[in-house]
Formats: sequence, structure tokens, C-alpha cells
Amino acid sequence: MTTTLKSYVCGQWFTGTGKMAQLHNPTTEEVVAETSTEGINFQEALAHARDKGGAALRAMTFAQRGELLMAMSKAIHEYREELLDLAALNGGNTRGDGKFDIDGATGTLAFYAKLGEKLGDRKTLNDGDEIRLSKNPRWVGRHVYKPLHGVAILINAFNFPAWGFAEKAATAILAGMPIVNKPATSTSLVAARISEILVESGVVPEGVFTSICGSAGDMLEHVQWQDVVAFTGSSDTGLKIRSMKSILENNVRVNVEADSLNAAVLGADVDSDDDVYDLFLREVTRDITQKAGQKCTATRRIFVPQDAVESVVEDLKGQLEAMKSGAPTVKGVKTGPLATAQQLQDAQAGLARLAECTETVLGGSRGELEGIDNDKGYFLSPTLLVAKDGEAPELHDREVFGPVATIIPYDGSVEHAARLLEKGRGSLVSSIYSDKAAFLLGMADSASAFLGRMHLANSKIAEHSAGPGTVLPQLMHGGPGRAGGGQELGGLSGLRFYMQRTALQGFSPLLEKLN
Ligand code: NAP
Repeated sequence: MTTTLKSYVCGQWFTGTGKMAQLHNPTTEEVVAETSTEGINFQEALAHARDKGGAALRAMTFAQRGELLMAMSKAIHEYREELLDLAALNGGNTRGDGKFDIDGATGTLAFYAKLGEKLGDRKTLNDGDEIRLSKNPRWVGRHVYKPLHGVAILINAFNFPAWGFAEKAATAILAGMPIVNKPATSTSLVAARISEILVESGVVPEGVFTSICGSAGDMLEHVQWQDVVAFTGSSDTGLKIRSMKSILENNVRVNVEADSLNAAVLGADVDSDDDVYDLFLREVTRDITQKAGQKCTATRRIFVPQDAVESVVEDLKGQLEAMKSGAPTVKGVKTGPLATAQQLQDAQAGLARLAECTETVLGGSRGELEGIDNDKGYFLSPTLLVAKDGEAPELHDREVFGPVATIIPYDGSVEHAARLLEKGRGSLVSSIYSDKAAFLLGMADSASAFLGRMHLANSKIAEHSAGPGTVLPQLMHGGPGRAGGGQELGGLSGLRFYMQRTALQGFSPLLEKLN
């Protein structure tokens, strides 16, 4: 029997009516669950979160909100094995891919829990020191952050149902805003189970957590001026949400994390026996194969000095061929299927568009699959392309959201690499591999404006690097331009989106008392 997923609204479980959206197992194409949000009164759902959840969180100190986040992290971690199975069933995740999402989620909640503990028994976040406003030291000013009194609507992409929720939830809850989580419908099995775990654990005060499992319906038409929307997904949906009348009229903050053509740049100084070369091969290979390339931070463009292209193609092919594709539950498989039939179709269409300006040197098809003896499943084997003309706009415009990357020759200079990076019109992250400080620093100097994060990799960090693909809660996640122009995480700065910055001016001893 097909499982029907539920939403959690106004402190109650809700089963949608009408036509159900189906969730599939991407390995077998079988339907594994269905869901609908028809019948949800979104206006009431948002009001309940604002009134009950907002009040509850604002009554808590940062330390208490931190305790709540830690309890959420522990509750989810307790069901880790079950969640990993669901990630394979509905997301096509290998065990490693599932851990990346689920452990990433619990780790991020725990990280913000500790920040809450450090902030202690306060409810106000100070921004900088007291500022003297006159000759008399009594008349001063100071900037403070207080939580907005609305609800934080968290809309997530299909590829990280756990981490995508947790990274937004951790910052919103620590800031003091209740959340409405809306995972992508197609892979919402993991998020739906996390909702059950959180509700059953009893750790979350009423109204702090609402879960919408299925279409967003008319939810965003009911946003009010103290609400915020944190969105991750495609640029098209981001634009649609940003342009809504309800959003514009109420000046509702919208944070967008969207598409990105991240790059890896190999310095001209790097030899094949350097540690940094091994690191480059390892990290690029992982980025192409992990989560079948369905990672917003995955490397899509690989800039290689012209005279090294041939050897890099051979070495990367060797590494990628060693990564087995197939059923995500089979031991040793590194690349599972894409998450949905639509994702496979989009990736194939993207490859077709790149065909004119690239040559395929590996993959491009279903490939050889471990543990699969039929033609089912949304598989695309790791695919390596080489650009015929590095300037072709399509290379820098078309994000193929799958295990696909393109080698693009360049002349080895900072100027050329930076100019090609810029052509991506804004990326979440890019990595520079070199043992020459001048090259690494030159890239940081010339290309930081085009990126949210830059991974400066040399032999000295080779054994410590988590790679560009891992989003760390300490560092900002987001990027300019095409990447959405958003900012998430980054330690305490991640809280600011959910808070109002207010300048207080008055009598110094009085302002000091506000905590
Ligand atoms: P998507 O189709 O844009 O959907 C994203 C989310 O938006 C889903 O939850 C979707 O719900 C919801 N949605 C769609 N239309 C909506 C509307 N009119 N109002 C409110 N919500 C709406 O993107 P996706 O296919 O899930 O994700 C793939 C994209 O996400 C890729 O382009 C990738 O680059 C990007 N991504 C970016 C990051 C990042 O951090 N920058 C991370 C991951 C992915 P339904 O599923 O119910 O339609």
C-alpha cells in the first residue's frame, strides 16, 4: 500500500485531499508515497506559527533556543539509519550521499546549538560597540538585532531534504523565528519522517514547527510584513517568488539560493606528482559523483592550462571510471540515479545543448550499472566533456544538474581564469589549485566578487581539506548573481536575515541593561 504523507499545521497532522502527487523510487521507478496539501488553510497555518511559535521563541534566551536545537539534532540522529534508508528509497542516495545530507543536518543543528549556548542568557544580539553621539558620554547609540515577529517560510530544493531544512531551521530558530518547512515534493519522504520525529519527540514548542508536505498552494499569498522567505531551488522559481505581489507589497525579505556553475581552476604551476594535483583530482571526482552531481556546490567547469588538458582528461577519466554507478544500496556504488524522471530529462536536455561546443570523453549515457538487471531507473553515468571553444556562452550558462562537468582550456594566467569565472555570472563556490601563493592570492583578489566562497587549495592543506562541495556552518553559503544573491549560515551572521537591526539611542546605562 502506498504511504500517504501528512503535513503538520496548527499543531495537528493534516492529510491533503484531491489529486495526490506521487513520490518515486528513482532506482526502480516505483511509487513509494503520495501527498497533497489541498485543503490546508495556509492563512491559518501561518497565523498559528506567528502567534504561538513566535511568542514561545521570543520568550526564550539564546541559550534556551540552543538547547532546543540540540534536542532536535539528537532526536533526528536517533533515527539516522531509518533516514538513510529513506534517502536511498526516495532520493537514490548511496549511504555516503545520505550521510552527507542527514549528518550534515544534525551537525548544523548542533553547531548552532553551541552558538546559542555561547550567547547565553540573552535575547538581544548586539551589533558592534556603543557609539558616543555627543561630547557627553551619557548620550550614546548602539545597533541591536531582535527577532522579527513573523514566520520564516523555508522552501527547499529536492536534493537536500534534511540538510536544506536544518541549515535554515537552525538559524531561524536561534534567531527566534518559528518555521514553516516546505521540502520539494518529489523527495519529501525524508523531510516528512523528520517532521514526525520532531513532533513525536515533543521537544519543539507548539507553533515553532510547521511542515508542508506537497505543493505550496497559495501559502505565499498570505505572507505579512514581518515574515521572511528563505528559498533554495531554481532561478525560475526564485524569480517567481520574488515577483509575487504579496511579497513586493509587504517588502517581505526573500533569500534566494539558486543555480550555480561552480569552477575548479588548476594552476599552471601544478605538476602531476604534486600533492595539490592529487587533491584536485580527488575533489573534482567527488564533486562529479557525490549525490550524482545533484549538489548546488558541485564543480561544473574545470579550467585547465591548455598544455595539461590531455593528461588531466586521462587522469580524471581514470578516477571517474573507478567510481561504480548503480543501485544506491549496493556496497561500493558511488553514484546512484538522479532523483526524478524530470531531473534525468533536464540533464539529458542540458547535455544535448552542450553537444555543439563540447566533446564527450566519458559517459553521457546510462552506463554500466551495479545491481540493476533491467532498464528502470533514472541513471546517468559520470560524464566528462571537453570544451571545443572555452568562450562558448553555453558552457558558462547551462548548469547540467547531474554528474557532469566540462574541462575548459585556459592560458594559465590569473587574468584569463578570472575572466572565465566571471562568465558564470555568479557562483556559490569555486576552487583554485596551486602551490604558487601569487596565483592563489591573485585569484582571490580578481575573482572574489563573482563568488560566495573560494576554496584556495595548495599542498599544505591537501590532507585537511573537506573540499569545496561541503558547506560548513561557520562559513557563509550563497553567491551573487545567478547563484541568487543570497547569504545563509556563516555563524552568527546567518541569524541576521531573521532579525531586525535597530539603532537604539539614549542614556548609556539604560542601553547597557538591555540584554
Ligand atoms: P525548484 O523546482 O525551483 O523547486 C524548489 C522548491 O520550490 C520546491 O520545494 C518547490 O516545491 C518549490 N516551489 C516551486 N514553485 C513554487 C511556487 N510557485 N511557490 C512556492 N514554492 C514553489 O527547484 P528543484 O528542482 O527542487 O531544485 C533544483 C535547483 O535548485 C537547481 O537549479 C539547483 O542549482 C538549485 N539548488 C541550489 C542550492 C543552493 O544552495 N544555491 C541548493 C540546492 C539546489 P514543489 O517540489 O512542490 O514544486
